[in-house]
Amino acid sequence: MTRLIGTLLLVTCFSASAECQSAATRAASQPRELSSPASTASPLPPPSLIVLITIDQFRDDYLDRFGPQLRGGLARFSRGGAWFTNAHHDHAITETAPGHATLLAGRFPRSTGIMANRIGVDDPAAPLLGDVATPGASPKRFQGTTLVDWLRVKDPRSRALSVSRKDRAAILPIGRSQADVYWYAGGRFTTSRYYRDTLPDWVNRFNARRMPQNLAGKSWTLLLADSAYKEPDSVIFEMNGRNFLFPHRFSDDSAAAAAASLATPFMDEIELDLALEGLNALSLGKAPQTDVLSISLSATDAIGHGYGQDSREMHDNVLRLDRNLGAFIDSLFKLRDSTRIAFALTADHGVATIPELVPVSVKPTPVRVNLTDLETSLRAVITAAKLDTSLVTLDHQIVLVNRDLAAVTNRTKALDNALSLFAVRARLLPGVARVDRFQDLLRGDTINNAIARRWVHQFPATSNVELVITLTPFSIFSEGSVATHGSPYDYDTHVPLIFSGPWFVPGRYAEFARTVDLAPTLAAVAGVKPSEKLDGVVLRRALK
Ligand SMILES: [Zn+2]
Repeated sequence: MTRLIGTLLLVTCFSASAECQSAATRAASQPRELSSPASTASPLPPPSLIVLITIDQFRDDYLDRFGPQLRGGLARFSRGGAWFTNAHHDHAITETAPGHATLLAGRFPRSTGIMANRIGVDDPAAPLLGDVATPGASPKRFQGTTLVDWLRVKDPRSRALSVSRKDRAAILPIGRSQADVYWYAGGRFTTSRYYRDTLPDWVNRFNARRMPQNLAGKSWTLLLADSAYKEPDSVIFEMNGRNFLFPHRFSDDSAAAAAASLATPFMDEIELDLALEGLNALSLGKAPQTDVLSISLSATDAIGHGYGQDSREMHDNVLRLDRNLGAFIDSLFKLRDSTRIAFALTADHGVATIPELVPVSVKPTPVRVNLTDLETSLRAVITAAKLDTSLVTLDHQIVLVNRDLAAVTNRTKALDNALSLFAVRARLLPGVARVDRFQDLLRGDTINNAIARRWVHQFPATSNVELVITLTPFSIFSEGSVATHGSPYDYDTHVPLIFSGPWFVPGRYAEFARTVDLAPTLAAVAGVKPSEKLDGVVLRRALK
């Protein structure tokens, strides 16, 4: 019973993806999914450039929380865009890989095949270019198509550039498409052999500027005067009690400074520069076709994991991100016709408060759940039932079962009894809210019960996921981060969903929307038709 999900989760469904997808599509329903996602041509000509900006771990409430101090790109989106203020990743495992995979696919993780970070983009068969010691990466587990593919059906000249600090956040938005896809590894931006054999000159030139390394000896200081920040800086829980006070000085060593830059706003600034360089080098957005520029900004995630959402560091990061996005949009509008650019701004997930900082009024008191307690409990019931331990795998919040092997060995009933006993025991552990049989959730109320619905959207109906474990609100697994995300609760699912450009009617839209609605809505303005059945629908109210 290892924690490795690896190939196990793939066993049942990944070999016969078409069947699995249709089964999954039938399995769960909610009223909105009955609407047709088919696109309707916009009265305006299609954009020459679609810009998707994804901010990793960006809570929707940051926009109002820091609103009075915003004056750059975030201000432009929140005040002048079509903002769906109740938009969610409507799936349960709110992590980077599944979140990014939904955005331009318009489909839930059960259908994209990207169900958790651990089944993300790792691929030893696609090594990174250059002397990089990082494992290879590709979209080989991604199933189906994305907006980039739909655009190319209409016009094969459509191009895509996707950049991020993270491999999964660069790769997954555009699915399996061949495109210019770059991420940061080993101190520079690179790609994998899935995409190309050599780095283009413009990326090499950008790397030669050594922007992360040049932070050596510099400091992250507050953008505004101290009095502009109401958060205390001296919160001992931040960064596990190390280096939690401003100013944050970079090491004099260039490699150490580059490594530390990941959890500062400067990495996003560098990445936005890379995006503009790429736009120029590739001549994106020059019509007549519609091109795609996907930018995923990862600094907010690293800062949120280390300092938490209530920190002075997060406040300053959002202000700097706002200014950097403003400068990026200003530069973009100098290079291309602003009336031909459609923007979408969103996030891959939100984040929970540091458990120790959750108000005492929240009951049950959130805890850091020790995964070993769950593993020990599961191992005990399996051993007591004299079952082969290879029948069952615990991977964080899910229990996977090899039912075929159980049937062959005639142990199905014994296995079911053991799992039922484990579920009873696991529910008694501090920090565990519920343990459900996945098959029961498929038959349950997915309209009114958001937790059940989000689990149903996570895995194909035919997957070998047997049990799903939901922690109590604000509880997290104890390994790793100071603060984190990954739950089906609204604080992790609620993200900004804002469109901007001549095709959209600015304003705040309070209706429930999902991040899977982003792709069909952009397809509608681009005048292209999705090549497959989607989970998302066109958000017509925001369209002119
Ligand atoms: Zn994260």
